[in-house]
Amino acid sequence: MEKDCELKLGPPERSQKIDVIIVGAGISGLVAAYRLLEKEPSLQIRILEASDNIGGSLQQISQGEIGAKWFEASQAHVYQLLQRMEIPLQQRSIVDAALPRCWELDQGVSSNLANYELQRYINELQLKSPFFRPGRFSIRKNSTKMEKHINNRLFFNESRKFMTNLVELVCGSKASDITYKEFMSICYGCGGLQNIINIYLDCPNTLLEFDSAHLLNVLTKRLQGTEFLLSRQVKAIYHYKDYIEVHDSTQKMHTTDVLILAIPLNALQQINFSPPVPMEMRKLLNNKLKTRLMLTSFIAGYGDGHWRNAGYSGSFLKSEPFIVGCEYRPNVYAGMMIHNSGLEPLVRSIALNALALHFGDAMKTPHTYNQHTFELSSLAHVPLTTPWHRIVWSSSAAASTCYRGFLGGAVQSGLRAALNALLLVRPQVVTWTDVADVHCQNCPNIKDVGPLQLWMSGLNLYNVGYYTLYASSVFLALQFAYKKFG
Ligand SMILES: Cc1cc2nc3c(=O)[nH]c(=O)nc-3n(C[C@H](O)[C@H](O)[C@H](O)COP(=O)(O)OP(=O)(O)OC[C@H]3O[C@@H](n4cnc5c(N)ncnc54)[C@H](O)[C@@H]3O)c2cc1C
Repeated sequence: MEKDCELKLGPPERSQKIDVIIVGAGISGLVAAYRLLEKEPSLQIRILEASDNIGGSLQQISQGEIGAKWFEASQAHVYQLLQRMEIPLQQRSIVDAALPRCWELDQGVSSNLANYELQRYINELQLKSPFFRPGRFSIRKNSTKMEKHINNRLFFNESRKFMTNLVELVCGSKASDITYKEFMSICYGCGGLQNIINIYLDCPNTLLEFDSAHLLNVLTKRLQGTEFLLSRQVKAIYHYKDYIEVHDSTQKMHTTDVLILAIPLNALQQINFSPPVPMEMRKLLNNKLKTRLMLTSFIAGYGDGHWRNAGYSGSFLKSEPFIVGCEYRPNVYAGMMIHNSGLEPLVRSIALNALALHFGDAMKTPHTYNQHTFELSSLAHVPLTTPWHRIVWSSSAAASTCYRGFLGGAVQSGLRAALNALLLVRPQVVTWTDVADVHCQNCPNIKDVGPLQLWMSGLNLYNVGYYTLYASSVFLALQFAYKKFG
């Protein structure tokens, strides 16, 4: 892939003003470039990428994808993109429904109760999601933290750990750093909690799978003439009335009419803006994470299907440390582990030892093994979608769909960013259908519910126990009073 990128590198750096500069060669940046050129082939586009390859979270290796690989057909924008690029899609069919999944949560004496209360809690959050549409509620500093909410609602340690891990995976921050309202708003933007669990943890047969290497090849072929500059991390952005200056890590300066920032929120927070971004955006950009969390994605191939041999199929889940695994092919397993920065070299032994405990010692010695570490992307409770003069926000975190944090969100944000950029540099080529193309479909997974169902969903072991105790003590007190004075 790297070789491919080098071959496709455009002409040497030009010093003159470029029509559009895109920062970040992840799927959202590439889609933005593709859409811009499709609408206006004469545009000069330059892509600045911090790493030495393109694709961002779509990392791929010879055994298969080590990054994003699955999505639901309801992620309309990515589905349509793959159809247009003629990328073959196949439905995931590897899970053997007759065999159980291997989740730590399903084991132990209290597993049934823990699973029950967890499912009830997830249902409650799912039902309440529509009330947390971004921008429709206010977040005060003293709002309940998600960690407290989890501890107040869940009794069993296993279910608490599961939820705490899920919060980290979804928001990229610790449950103690994020409020309940922020989390709920983020879940709404991601299409609901159940959707997140489906794609990242359960990986059922209903998901669609595609070859990300193929997609990147087709996209880069269609971007012939676009200038790719790799290993250029953008450090500072100077915003003038008629143009923008971008300074990269090699001390080079680029000038452009419009700048598309197709990078995650964490990366945006590391860039110096001059003049500083407006107040309402500053709140999001200055809200830096207290702890940097990393996600190492791995893929391990064996000579035999050890999961099936041990009587399991589908997915693997362990809470401490948080390790998720999925059957990728009958004898190839993909997984990921969330950890603090610096622990990357230990992931292989920790993850394979954890798998060996359930599927046998052979798991410790894979025939092939690859891993890649990503910084866990953080999501703010509202996405950055409105351009700031000549600066346009893109990336999966800046999507206005119900698939923020997913491929669908990345593609939609790329299309929207291209539209915003065209309105600035070539407004005459924009049509109504372009606007309709980036329109966000309503969340198919989140439905409004009646007040009774909502109230019932809030019942849990704690409050049902509390109400029962309260009602019986009132009853006993009345009975006692009646006997004594009646
Ligand atoms: C391991 C993993 C598995 C996933 N699996 C799925 C899945 O199965 N299904 C699904 O729908 N979604 C999945 N996702 C989420 C999905 O991959 C992402 O939402 C999507 O790819 C994000 O694309 P993006 O273009 O917004 O950002 P990225 O892919 O993160 O691209 C951003 C690019 O910007 C570059 N960059 C950052 N800062 C700078 C800077 N200052 N200057 C220049 N360049 C910079 C980065 O190097 C990177 O290449 C997964 C994510 C991960 C990490």
